[in-house]
Amino acid sequence: MIIQLKDINKTYYNGAPLHVLKGIDLEIRKGEMVAIMGASGSGKSTLLNILGILDTYDSGTYSLGGQLIRDLSESRSAECRNRMIGFIFQSFNLISFKNAMENVALPLYYQGMKRRKRNATAMEYLNMVGLTEWAEHMPSELSGGQKQRVAIARALIASPSVILADEPTGALDSVTTLEVMELLRNVNKEKGMTMIIVTHEQSVAAVTDRIIRLKDGIIESIEKVPHYV
Ligand code: ADP
Ligand code: MG
Repeated sequence: MIIQLKDINKTYYNGAPLHVLKGIDLEIRKGEMVAIMGASGSGKSTLLNILGILDTYDSGTYSLGGQLIRDLSESRSAECRNRMIGFIFQSFNLISFKNAMENVALPLYYQGMKRRKRNATAMEYLNMVGLTEWAEHMPSELSGGQKQRVAIARALIASPSVILADEPTGALDSVTTLEVMELLRNVNKEKGMTMIIVTHEQSVAAVTDRIIRLKDGIIESIEKVPHYV
């Protein structure tokens, strides 16, 4: 198992205590692609943030790639995150004053890679997502689907073990949604990369292997997705 959660609990204490995750048990195999669904406020983003070491939990255990993720210092969690995890967001989170290639290359900049080498690598990833011709364009010149492809290339460039995506198609029309999901599914299959995707859309969840439904901070059901060839 690349991810193991045992009895994870999380309460927010700004104002009246809010018990958001109530004993989450979950195991995800390497190379699996899963969807997390559930009503707004059910704890999906909180769970994803804990998985991404962006947030802490109060009790339980979380192990990622065999390593216990608990009480890590800021720098240790940042190091773990950069090495293990790629993030994709609904709002793309591209840097507006950098072109597509520079956005994709950013994680390599943080690794200290020289510009020529990181830009060459970024071009390979842009090519993989079908955006070679758009390398010099700024985010404002790209469509929503193109922006999300840039964000996907950026998430993949440091070869993380796990991709975490919080409503990655939430800002896209239905045709673009399916194109983006097809791209993610192909990357999942070809690179054996583990992917966890929070979504409201059944059409998105249907592309994955398993659907985990959260309700009020509890896993309500886990369903295997049938795939017809
Ligand atoms: P979802 O992604 O399923 O919509 P979230 O995990 O974002 O749900 O939020 C679950 C609950 O926790 C919501 O009621 C939300 O308002 C609350 N919440 C989320 N983040 C915080 C925070 N940083 N501080 C306090 N409450 C929060
Ligand atoms: Mg959310």
